[in-house]
Amino acid sequence: MTRFFFQSALLPGGWARNVAVRVENGTIITVEPDAKAATGDFAGFLGLPGLASLHSHTFQRGMAGLGEVRGQGEDSFWSWRQVMYRFLGVLGPDEVEAIAAQAFMEMLEGGFTAVGEFHYLHHAPDGTPYDDVGELSGRIAAAADQTGIGLTLLPVLYQQGGFGGAAPNQGQKRFLNSLDQYGSLFESAARAAQRLPDANIGIAPHSLRAVSPQALTEIVAGHSRGPIHIHIAEQVREVEDCIAWSGRRPVEWLGDHVALDRRWCLIHATHMTPHEGRLVARSGAVAGLCPLTEANLGDGIFDAPTMLKNGGAFGVGTDSNVQITAPGELRQLEYSQRLALKARNIFPRDAGTSTGEALYRGALSGGARALGRKIGGIEPGQRADFVVLGREACDAPIHDPAAMLDYYVFVADKLLIADVYVAGALRVRQGHHIAREAIAARYRRVLQRLKDS
Ligand SMILES: [Zn+2]
Repeated sequence: MTRFFFQSALLPGGWARNVAVRVENGTIITVEPDAKAATGDFAGFLGLPGLASLHSHTFQRGMAGLGEVRGQGEDSFWSWRQVMYRFLGVLGPDEVEAIAAQAFMEMLEGGFTAVGEFHYLHHAPDGTPYDDVGELSGRIAAAADQTGIGLTLLPVLYQQGGFGGAAPNQGQKRFLNSLDQYGSLFESAARAAQRLPDANIGIAPHSLRAVSPQALTEIVAGHSRGPIHIHIAEQVREVEDCIAWSGRRPVEWLGDHVALDRRWCLIHATHMTPHEGRLVARSGAVAGLCPLTEANLGDGIFDAPTMLKNGGAFGVGTDSNVQITAPGELRQLEYSQRLALKARNIFPRDAGTSTGEALYRGALSGGARALGRKIGGIEPGQRADFVVLGREACDAPIHDPAAMLDYYVFVADKLLIADVYVAGALRVRQGHHIAREAIAARYRRVLQRLKDS
């Protein structure tokens, strides 16, 4: 039994003072406001439930910053994708594991305690499957284990180069699996997840362009439990190609062909008509938003007003990991809406409500639903994931807890993070991961090797 004590904490019912939290085997047993601190408590200034990054491709952390040079003609998602394909041509298992560990460590330091790793890099650089088809999934799990982040492994089915069964290109050969191969991959990934103290698994048909309708039906029918994640409607060209192929827009098509519900997480869902927005909001599916990546790639802006009006669920993901920060994702989410709508404080429903808190609570519950985990609340039965604000090194002159959460999201960013716990275990102390030195040194060696190759 471990006891935590927070001077303030964000509980499901609101802010509370002097909160004692008892934890056993990584799970919260009791939560007691207006308690007294005791010797031996893990004490902190302001306790938040840990947030999930519901969508990540960790290997892309290694190419962060490499897609920022202007090319010939107009640069877009599609030209960025060419840079990404060249980068992953040189990644082997050791590199994948080292980069994943660095990314997971930075997520913990950036205020995330759980991650959905949407993993589509499966084979050797020439496209040959490793002896264990789930080799790289195992490497992702090993990296999660080294860092202590709560992992939801989402092995990806990627079958084809584009809508209507288009042939894959050279850059995609490391992703490709038949349905049969996917069965073996999923089993291997599930074994890797089971070896961790606390991880789960879901399925991830990559997108409507990379998976056939028949395979989508079969993979969903074959997995009756766990999260289902899919990329959808990220790019205008993707929407146009989908209409040319099927006569339907992507979200519309998906709604017609699968039973959308709370197991589904629709990644990006950027380009939707109000009708599609209502369809997603009312289905219980989570809109998996990746605001920093969507801004970096020039994807477009999600229709938040329709989602909020219809009680839709959303969460945030670090996706390309170009910059890893929980408050930064929430801030970009709100700022994109402000720019699009020429208005402020979009996410709170009621006057007098903090925008930081509305964003944070929304992303907590959407993230937990999308990953199928008991996380996202400081209450009995939930995993003891805490982000403790109030770092000694930060000179924020704020003592009111609600104002401090706004300060975290809009001003100080991760500088305000003191300690981070996952399942009751300390992973970040005073802003630094407890294994930072070794993980960062290995990452630097690997990137140097890649640069020299
Ligand atoms: Zn993605």
